[in-house]
Amino acid sequence: MSVVAVVPAAGSGQRLGAALPKAFVPVGGVPILLRAVDGLLRSGVVDRVVVAVPAGQVGAARSLLAGRPVVVIVGGSDRTGSVRNALHAMDGASGGERAHGGERAGTRGGDAHTEDFGDIVLVHDAARPLTPPELTAAVVAAIRSGRHAVVPVLPLADTVKQVDGDGRVHGTVDRSVLRAVQTPQGFTRALLERAYDAAGSAATDDAGLVEALGESVHTVPGHASAFKITTPWDLQLAEMLLARTPEAGT
Ligand code: C5P
Repeated sequence: MSVVAVVPAAGSGQRLGAALPKAFVPVGGVPILLRAVDGLLRSGVVDRVVVAVPAGQVGAARSLLAGRPVVVIVGGSDRTGSVRNALHAMDGASGGERAHGGERAGTRGGDAHTEDFGDIVLVHDAARPLTPPELTAAVVAAIRSGRHAVVPVLPLADTVKQVDGDGRVHGTVDRSVLRAVQTPQGFTRALLERAYDAAGSAATDDAGLVEALGESVHTVPGHASAFKITTPWDLQLAEMLLARTPEAGT
């Protein structure tokens, strides 16, 4: 069973406040997207990667990722749209075109299931560039062991309150049953495609769409290093981690 990783990288990164789209912002001197893709490939369990970038960044992404088994496509207006475009591109790809990719956010239907584009699909935020390759391997191992949907999770350290729009507290949530969810999230390709076919509105993660089908989603232990870079604080944290242990991102 081959493994393809879909990397949504088409966010603007508004909350980061950088001049560049987030995926192209360097961390430790290397663009976030390049670190994320190389981390996936270093796991040794990913055969191909499909990267979704903003419309104006396809050429830049191709140059950045040259020499790797990567297809670059145009992302959507939200994360769900970007992953959907990637799934469509996987289905629409044929023959040698696949290796080079293109701005193919095309229609699903042609080549409904191809060996090249995997029986197992990972979806991994570009914005998590320090994700340990071992985490990716653990997610794929769980899918290979028979699970159909697997997410890495961490327990919550903080107490969690429910609040209203005015910031008034309405209760304390039992955090022992809560988990923060990371990526890469892994799926059998058939299940993920079914979830996206059925998806009504945008979701903040892919497993949520699988849950909406009533299908089981399983967990593996996440890793602190798989945190998502959203704000300037996160970027600083990544810079500091790389300065202390450069091997974290190699
Ligand atoms: O905005 P946020 O950091 O939650 O986005 C998570 C991931 O989804 C990021 O890697 C971002 O690039 C990606 N994304 C996307 N297309 C969008 C919006 C976000 O691929 N339209």
